[in-house]
Amino acid sequence: MSPSGTSDPNCLFCKITRKDIPANIVSEDDEFVAFRDINAQAPSHVLVIPKEHIRNISEAGDAEQLGKLFQKACQVARSEKLDGGFRVVVNTGDDAGQTVHHVHVHVMGGRRMNWPPG
Ligand code: 5GP
Ligand code: ZN
Repeated sequence: MSPSGTSDPNCLFCKITRKDIPANIVSEDDEFVAFRDINAQAPSHVLVIPKEHIRNISEAGDAEQLGKLFQKACQVARSEKLDGGFRVVVNTGDDAGQTVHHVHVHVMGGRRMNWPPG
Protein backbone atom coordinates (compact mmCIF):
# COMPACT_ATOMS: atom_id res chain seq x y z
CA MET A 1 0.00 0.00 0.00
CA SER A 2 1.28 3.43 -0.84
CA PRO A 3 1.55 6.03 1.95
CA SER A 4 -1.33 7.94 0.41
CA GLY A 5 -3.38 4.80 0.26
CA THR A 6 -4.32 4.22 -3.37
CA SER A 7 -3.51 0.76 -4.63
CA ASP A 8 -5.33 -1.30 -7.29
CA PRO A 9 -5.49 -5.00 -6.39
CA ASN A 10 -5.47 -5.97 -10.08
CA CYS A 11 -2.60 -3.71 -11.18
CA LEU A 12 0.69 -5.42 -12.03
CA PHE A 13 2.85 -2.55 -10.76
CA CYS A 14 0.82 -2.22 -7.54
CA LYS A 15 1.53 -5.93 -7.04
CA ILE A 16 5.26 -5.27 -7.50
CA THR A 17 5.01 -2.35 -5.03
CA ARG A 18 3.33 -4.61 -2.49
CA LYS A 19 5.90 -7.39 -3.18
CA ASP A 20 3.07 -9.70 -4.19
CA ILE A 21 5.08 -10.51 -7.30
CA PRO A 22 8.87 -10.41 -7.50
CA ALA A 23 10.89 -7.78 -9.32
CA ASN A 24 14.55 -6.89 -9.53
CA ILE A 25 14.34 -3.72 -7.43
CA VAL A 26 17.21 -1.25 -7.78
CA SER A 27 15.95 1.36 -5.31
CA GLU A 28 12.96 2.11 -3.15
CA ASP A 29 11.77 4.75 -0.71
CA ASP A 30 8.45 5.69 0.89
CA GLU A 31 6.97 7.02 -2.34
CA PHE A 32 8.74 5.38 -5.30
CA VAL A 33 10.10 2.05 -6.52
CA ALA A 34 12.63 1.49 -9.31
CA PHE A 35 13.01 -1.98 -10.81
CA ARG A 36 14.48 -3.58 -13.92
CA ASP A 37 12.21 -4.01 -16.92
CA ILE A 38 11.54 -7.72 -17.51
CA ASN A 39 12.02 -7.18 -21.27
CA ALA A 40 14.98 -4.81 -21.34
CA GLN A 41 15.42 -2.77 -24.53
CA ALA A 42 18.87 -1.49 -23.57
CA PRO A 43 21.76 -2.76 -21.39
CA SER A 44 20.23 -0.70 -18.58
CA HIS A 45 16.42 -0.46 -18.57
CA VAL A 46 14.77 0.52 -15.31
CA LEU A 47 11.16 1.49 -14.59
CA VAL A 48 10.49 4.13 -11.94
CA ILE A 49 6.98 4.23 -10.46
CA PRO A 50 5.16 6.01 -7.66
CA LYS A 51 3.79 3.61 -5.08
CA GLU A 52 0.46 5.39 -5.43
CA HIS A 53 -1.70 3.95 -8.21
CA ILE A 54 -2.01 6.67 -10.87
CA ARG A 55 -2.93 5.51 -14.37
CA ASN A 56 -0.78 7.90 -16.38
CA ILE A 57 0.84 11.34 -16.25
CA SER A 58 -2.34 12.97 -17.55
CA GLU A 59 -4.16 11.79 -14.44
CA ALA A 60 -1.39 12.80 -12.05
CA GLY A 61 -2.62 15.83 -10.17
CA ASP A 62 0.39 16.45 -7.97
CA ALA A 63 3.13 18.50 -9.64
CA GLU A 64 5.53 17.90 -6.76
CA GLN A 65 5.08 14.16 -7.04
CA LEU A 66 5.70 14.27 -10.80
CA GLY A 67 8.82 16.38 -10.25
CA LYS A 68 10.10 13.88 -7.71
CA LEU A 69 9.39 11.02 -10.12
CA PHE A 70 11.72 12.60 -12.67
CA GLN A 71 14.33 13.32 -10.01
CA LYS A 72 14.21 9.63 -9.10
CA ALA A 73 14.67 8.75 -12.77
CA CYS A 74 17.83 10.89 -12.82
CA GLN A 75 19.09 9.26 -9.61
CA VAL A 76 18.62 5.86 -11.23
CA ALA A 77 20.58 7.03 -14.30
CA ARG A 78 23.42 8.12 -12.00
CA SER A 79 23.42 4.88 -10.03
CA GLU A 80 23.37 2.92 -13.31
CA LYS A 81 26.39 5.02 -14.38
CA LEU A 82 24.73 6.22 -17.58
CA ASP A 83 27.18 9.10 -17.76
CA GLY A 84 27.15 9.18 -21.57
CA GLY A 85 23.42 9.86 -21.63
CA PHE A 86 20.15 8.09 -21.18
CA ARG A 87 16.60 8.16 -22.49
CA VAL A 88 13.48 8.78 -20.42
CA VAL A 89 10.18 7.57 -21.90
CA VAL A 90 6.66 7.88 -20.48
CA ASN A 91 4.21 6.08 -22.72
CA THR A 92 0.77 7.57 -22.11
CA GLY A 93 -2.35 5.83 -23.40
CA ASP A 94 -2.97 3.15 -25.98
CA ASP A 95 -1.69 5.02 -29.04
CA ALA A 96 1.65 5.51 -27.29
CA GLY A 97 1.85 1.81 -26.50
CA GLN A 98 1.22 2.03 -22.77
CA THR A 99 0.55 -1.54 -21.67
CA VAL A 100 0.65 -1.18 -17.89
CA HIS A 101 -1.76 1.47 -16.68
CA HIS A 102 0.21 2.55 -13.63
CA VAL A 103 2.37 5.55 -14.44
CA HIS A 104 6.01 4.60 -15.03
CA VAL A 105 9.13 6.26 -16.34
CA HIS A 106 11.41 4.13 -18.50
CA VAL A 107 15.09 4.95 -17.93
CA MET A 108 17.18 3.40 -20.70
CA GLY A 109 20.85 3.62 -21.51
CA GLY A 110 24.12 1.83 -21.99
CA ARG A 111 23.90 1.93 -25.76
CA ARG A 112 23.45 4.56 -28.47
CA MET A 113 19.70 5.25 -28.69
CA ASN A 114 18.02 5.77 -32.07
CA TRP A 115 15.80 8.66 -33.12
CA PRO A 116 13.01 8.84 -34.22
CA PRO A 117 11.83 6.11 -31.83
CA GLY A 118 9.08 4.72 -34.12
P1 5GP B 1 4.68 0.39 -21.26
O1 5GP B 1 4.60 -0.35 -22.56
O2 5GP B 1 3.37 0.36 -20.51
O3 5GP B 1 5.25 1.77 -21.37
O4 5GP B 1 5.76 -0.38 -20.40
C1 5GP B 1 5.48 -1.46 -19.59
C2 5GP B 1 6.78 -2.15 -19.35
O5 5GP B 1 6.62 -3.06 -18.28
C3 5GP B 1 7.29 -2.97 -20.55
O6 5GP B 1 8.54 -2.45 -20.97
C4 5GP B 1 7.39 -4.38 -20.02
O7 5GP B 1 8.51 -5.08 -20.48
C5 5GP B 1 7.42 -4.18 -18.51
N1 5GP B 1 6.84 -5.28 -17.76
C6 5GP B 1 5.67 -5.93 -18.04
N2 5GP B 1 5.44 -6.87 -17.11
C7 5GP B 1 6.48 -6.82 -16.23
C8 5GP B 1 6.79 -7.56 -15.05
O8 5GP B 1 6.07 -8.45 -14.62
N3 5GP B 1 7.95 -7.24 -14.42
C9 5GP B 1 8.77 -6.25 -14.87
N4 5GP B 1 9.89 -6.02 -14.16
N5 5GP B 1 8.51 -5.53 -15.98
C10 5GP B 1 7.37 -5.82 -16.64
ZN1 ZN C 1 -1.06 0.32 -9.89
